[in-house]
Amino acid sequence: MSGYHRRVFENFPMDRIKRVDKPTTQVEEEKIKRVDERESGFNRAARGDFGAYLKEQRPRFVMKHPISGALGQMQVFLRDIVDGIVAKHKAPIPDDPEILSKHIKELAYFLRADGVGICKLPRYAVYTNSFPDGEPVECNHKFAIAILIDQDWRTSIATTGHDWISNSMSFMAYSASGFIACIIADYIRRLGYPARAHHARNYQVVVPPILLWAGLGEMCRIGDCVLHPFLGPRFKAAVVTTDLPLLPDKPIDFGLQDFCSKCKKCARACPSGALSEGDKIMYNGYERWPTDVEKCTALRVGNKRGSGCGTCIKVCPWNKPYTPFHRTVNWMIRHSGLARTIAIWADDLIGYGKPEPEKKWWFDLEEVGERLIIPKSS
Ligand code: SF4
Repeated sequence: MSGYHRRVFENFPMDRIKRVDKPTTQVEEEKIKRVDERESGFNRAARGDFGAYLKEQRPRFVMKHPISGALGQMQVFLRDIVDGIVAKHKAPIPDDPEILSKHIKELAYFLRADGVGICKLPRYAVYTNSFPDGEPVECNHKFAIAILIDQDWRTSIATTGHDWISNSMSFMAYSASGFIACIIADYIRRLGYPARAHHARNYQVVVPPILLWAGLGEMCRIGDCVLHPFLGPRFKAAVVTTDLPLLPDKPIDFGLQDFCSKCKKCARACPSGALSEGDKIMYNGYERWPTDVEKCTALRVGNKRGSGCGTCIKVCPWNKPYTPFHRTVNWMIRHSGLARTIAIWADDLIGYGKPEPEKKWWFDLEEVGERLIIPKSS
């Protein structure tokens, strides 16, 4: 193994991001109450809390476009392979947490992850009850491995954020991160340690606090969303929980709290008016910007002119390609408050965040009955 770990395997220079002992937003761990999965916005829509139209649309809002439909079906296939039998004998590998952490991260990058981080699994990040049956959730693993997948910059520049490709961008990243998580969990069980994958069709954990503690981002103005220093909010995540001995990463600070306090571009652009231009609040032990969950869910589930919505992700100034120019700007806004103020002003001036329809590559289609039609909004 000598020299093996000298390889640089990360996609982005996360080693250049400032590490801190606690997340940059307050997390009052003793005050956090575990949440019931049945109470999420999407699950409340399924129950009918937001009216008959959203209840009717909930089962079809992903499946109505054939790309997101195919990706959503892949999620269904991944639903029941999150856990399994643990090998009786431990594999003859080092039990050093530092070596094993590097190894698991390199495995995730081999499987084409765009970001990986590790933290201790906070007890409060585990759901109390599962959707839809309300079964009590038990997940007592010691560690969580978070896996990020980019939703694709090239598609992001083409879309409005709330047209027919929006759900496909989400579900490409959900399916790919879930695929990687299922393989990593299976591999760890073959090494002789318990492990369970958690992905969009079968989470037992709430993801944002895991991303915070695993050093993959800071809380941003977009509701419950963690923003990565190089991907911005343009990713989805899956998680593996395990008892494999691992070395946790530390949270990061790249100036986002100052940036989001000044920027507010997502709140101005949100078609549903769900995001706030106001200050952060404390909610269930977390410091965060408030979001109107009903308005956000209503647009994503009930969108009549597209499939889903990710307008906030599309317009965010941190949603940029990884080019030398944007890497330089990224360095400056991570290190200077003045650079952040100028970058926020320049982002609008240059016209970032506007759709570029000439780059559109997908067909607008909607499944109605058993046929695909051209939607009226096209
Ligand atoms: Fe923060 Fe601006 Fe991105 Fe919203 S658009 S998450 S305010 S940086």
